[in-house]
Amino acid sequence: MTSELTVVGHPLIKHKLTLMRRKETSTANFRALLSEISMLLAYEALFDLKLRDEPIETPLAKINAPMVDGKKLVLVAILRAGQGIVDGMLKIVPNARVGHVGLYRDPKTLQAVEYFYKVPNDLSDRDVIVCDPMLATGNSAVAAVDRVKRSNPASLRFVCLLACPEGVTTFHAAHPDVRIFTAAVDERLNDHGYIVPGLGDAGDRLFGTK
Ligand code: URA
Repeated sequence: MTSELTVVGHPLIKHKLTLMRRKETSTANFRALLSEISMLLAYEALFDLKLRDEPIETPLAKINAPMVDGKKLVLVAILRAGQGIVDGMLKIVPNARVGHVGLYRDPKTLQAVEYFYKVPNDLSDRDVIVCDPMLATGNSAVAAVDRVKRSNPASLRFVCLLACPEGVTTFHAAHPDVRIFTAAVDERLNDHGYIVPGLGDAGDRLFGTK
């Protein structure tokens, strides 16, 4: 197992991530920036997307030209903030199918408990990307990927905006076969489960709920 972690360090991503981290960034700008970064992360995470040749006609000739079969791709949002990444990715792969996983943390056991799971039928010939902006403790990412694996996808990747060393270690201990794509790996996790320096609560900042 390779336990691969890809940090997509393009200057545009770094610049936009800095804008997102600023505490004074508005909800509207935060949302737009997450969407833009997600498109750039998708570009990297889909570097080996399958193509099939389609017969087409240019104004000059008939050729067989490569096309992406978007329907074979499934973007799975971990609710709720994962939807921000999925919305951005859909701008460049509009035919992708979308799934959702809802999890909450049991206050007694601190384990992730599933309250919602809906993905397209038969994942066995589909490539799945599970999305959540923050890979913090890693518990919900591990639980979401556990659940998707039970649906037997053809392949599985995880995309986040920010990770921390603790989250990466936990995730790859459980899923060494799932490659992570992220814009940055921050310094650490604090005692409240937040990434430091991070950007605060991604869901609240995305939806304006605080
Ligand atoms: N979830 C967030 O939204 N932010 C963090 O820093 C950690 C988890």
